[in-house]
Amino acid sequence: KLDGLHSFSEAPPRYFSSEPFLQAEPTEEIGFKGHGMLAPFTAGWQSTDVNPLVIDRSEGAYVYDINGKKYIDALAGLWCTALGGNEPRLVKAATEQLNKLPFYHSFWNRTTKPSLDLANEILKMFTAREMGKVFFANSGSEANDSQVKLVWYYNNALGRPKKKKFIARSKSYHGSTLIAASLSGLPALHQKFDLPAPFVLHTDCPHYWRFHLPDETEEEFSTRLANNLESLIIKEGPETIAAFIAEPVMGAGGVILPPKSYFEKIQAVLKKYDILLIADEVITAFGRLGTMFGCDKYDIKPDLVSIAKALSSAYMPIAAILVSPEIADVIHSESNKLGSFAHGFTYSGHPVSCAVAIEALKIYNERNITKNVNEIAPRFQEGIKAFSGSPIIGETRGLGLILGTEFVDNKSPNDPFPAEWGVGSIFGAECEKRGMLIRVAGDSIMLSPPLIMTPGEVDEIVSKYGDALEATEERIAELK
Ligand code: PLP
Repeated sequence: KLDGLHSFSEAPPRYFSSEPFLQAEPTEEIGFKGHGMLAPFTAGWQSTDVNPLVIDRSEGAYVYDINGKKYIDALAGLWCTALGGNEPRLVKAATEQLNKLPFYHSFWNRTTKPSLDLANEILKMFTAREMGKVFFANSGSEANDSQVKLVWYYNNALGRPKKKKFIARSKSYHGSTLIAASLSGLPALHQKFDLPAPFVLHTDCPHYWRFHLPDETEEEFSTRLANNLESLIIKEGPETIAAFIAEPVMGAGGVILPPKSYFEKIQAVLKKYDILLIADEVITAFGRLGTMFGCDKYDIKPDLVSIAKALSSAYMPIAAILVSPEIADVIHSESNKLGSFAHGFTYSGHPVSCAVAIEALKIYNERNITKNVNEIAPRFQEGIKAFSGSPIIGETRGLGLILGTEFVDNKSPNDPFPAEWGVGSIFGAECEKRGMLIRVAGDSIMLSPPLIMTPGEVDEIVSKYGDALEATEERIAELK
């Protein structure tokens, strides 16, 4: 039987699989139990004992499983299908490019026109500060791995071989390759993988609701975090710290918005110690927060930026790094000495991915995607936040078309529900039963729907959220 747990990355322990209240209704039994795939972010028992949720086709903000059941895709795949499930212009761009030139690489000063055009377009669109060059990768993880190599190369070129450590934040998510997982501040990414790598340090998660002291204002909280960052830098030695990496809004960590003046204060500390700032905009780029980039929203002036996901509306895998003119200049002159900048991937700047991304960016501009997000966001945010009085909700937080809810007892961050209840998963399963897919991580749940949502689709998300919440409240009352 299809049951409601298969799609969640941080699923509760195995014994939850037999709980009857988590069963979703299969319209037809199609067995993929014990399939051949080692599935990402999936527990072994889920792959062996439970049929996966097999998604078969998509249409606008909806996906359909292999049994024909329809779901509103309130996470836009994995925060990525910004233009929804069947944008014909993206399909056309891919098909035309496949017919013309399905592949050529970008090594040794050979490349393709789509990759050159896309680099120029990205540089034009990013206006938080002037950027110099774009490096292409295939995923957010690869982009962030590449960031570390770029920064090391840069500091080596400048004769600063000791300036190699990275500071990231607890609860951040930067991907799952060795270095990206090291940068991430989520314990599951480190446990049993011998991570994080020793050159990565983690500083505070800027989650005001959870971590502020009694009577501490948001500004005071930001000041304390900036002071903690400075203390860490001084303790380690500023000459050893290369860069700080941050998502403008933390995504997978639970949709955590920066508190007031946070980035202003953090940037001042970084500047003081000549530490580069990397903005991980893998989720926030291209309109999700109601601005084209998260850096615009929070007045962030990064030295390097990672983008992916909405860059192609996820129709083809592609990611990119934006490199400041100063860093690009140093990389150019060093590579002149060495003969080449020896980093890149077979699929860096893949012409089909680039052609799709060019079309996606055209659509964002032509349809004024940020305007659409800003028009729809109040309905979405206010609709969901109207439920925040629920006795099982600690905090609902969000901006634009991204939102997280954290379930706790007594409305207190210090009163988690017992982990074995799997409250987040109960809510996720209740959503799934009602035909809505969301993200669950522990007792936090997250929504990040396509940016092309209609008011009616927003209302559907709000209504399904409300119904799933009621069912979750009832289940908790039984468990209590
Ligand atoms: N950075 C952020 C902020 C992300 O949210 C993600 C994925 O969710 C990544 C990096 C990793 O991207 P990918 O899964 O494409 O490697």
